Amino acid sequence: MSARTIGIIGGGQLGRMLAMAAARLNFRTVILEPQAGCPAAQVANSQITAAYADPLALAELAAACDIVTYEFENVPVEAAETLARNVPVYPPPRALEVAQDRLTEKRFLNGCGIPTARFHAVDSQEELEAALADFGGQGVLKTRRLGYDGKGQRVFRSPADSPEGAFAALGNVPLILESFVPFEREISIIAARAVDGTVAAYDPAENVHRDGILDTSTLPARIDSQTAAAAHESAGKLLAALDYVGVVGIEFFVLPDGSLVANEIAPRVHNSGHWTEAACVVSQFEQHIRAITGLPLGDPARHSDCVMTNLIGDDLNDVPMWLSRPHALVHLYGKTEARPGRKMGHVTEITRAKG
Ligand code: AMP
Repeated sequence: MSARTIGIIGGGQLGRMLAMAAARLNFRTVILEPQAGCPAAQVANSQITAAYADPLALAELAAACDIVTYEFENVPVEAAETLARNVPVYPPPRALEVAQDRLTEKRFLNGCGIPTARFHAVDSQEELEAALADFGGQGVLKTRRLGYDGKGQRVFRSPADSPEGAFAALGNVPLILESFVPFEREISIIAARAVDGTVAAYDPAENVHRDGILDTSTLPARIDSQTAAAAHESAGKLLAALDYVGVVGIEFFVLPDGSLVANEIAPRVHNSGHWTEAACVVSQFEQHIRAITGLPLGDPARHSDCVMTNLIGDDLNDVPMWLSRPHALVHLYGKTEARPGRKMGHVTEITRAKG
């Protein structure tokens, strides 16, 4: 195998873990990221320290790499398209376009036959009031673009919650109002598609959020086999529709009757798939590297039950405790400042080896 070079746009922890997986398979990595010494660059071969859309930096990245991928969904679509004219970019830039706008995303999911919450586009205070009236005064209002970890959102729990000033409070930007989904739990599925169209999906994880940020992912999720099969089927449809190459994460709400409502897609490796590094032979990071480089996909079977816990801000103080537990795999991200809400690392504890 010749030593090929993979470009990774984005220098956070996901890029770091991709670079580590790439290195184990003899690939070189170049990180494009404006912040010098970022988590990914600490373990990669080199960094181009520039903005994601900088034309000179993109030309340099295309010249230095055989394949380019990305670790976050807000890579400017034009930058990905410019790169794709010179070097293969996986997942395809179309996946970025779909994932960057919650309205486009929901329409796309519905077009693939994947159910979502009902929704209305909201471009003014008047449209917000009309949309809320349609949903009986309940709903979740979100910015269409650039929201993450529950940021840029407002929940209307009952008609008593006044929408007054809400459009301006979210920044006078295009919004979407989603109907309120009375879910029993949240799950996600991580799946990969190879260049030849082969799909491999991991078992769905059950996710719990704290202050809008993922706190834990638990395997197995408390769902029956039909619900798990429905998650796999949705992943297959989505991957085929995008002619996707690489790993995708799809988050779902599980209704009391076991049916699924898709919430959002991430065209990249995903926080709720970090457990694969401890409980599967081939992690989501290696799976992504295999997919984009044309190597055969690994077996996504899970050999253990486990719980992944994010280490956020001061949770870093728990590292000595986690290190003393015999079945816990600690992974830290090389970030120096532990600000509140900042993901500093994660730990996956094996709770039971499958017999
Ligand atoms: P998101 O940023 O879309 O992932 O939303 C963050 C969290 O808000 C989700 O994980 C849910 O717990 C909650 N949430 C988002 N959308 C809805 C909805 N339409 N109905 C009920 N809860 C929601």
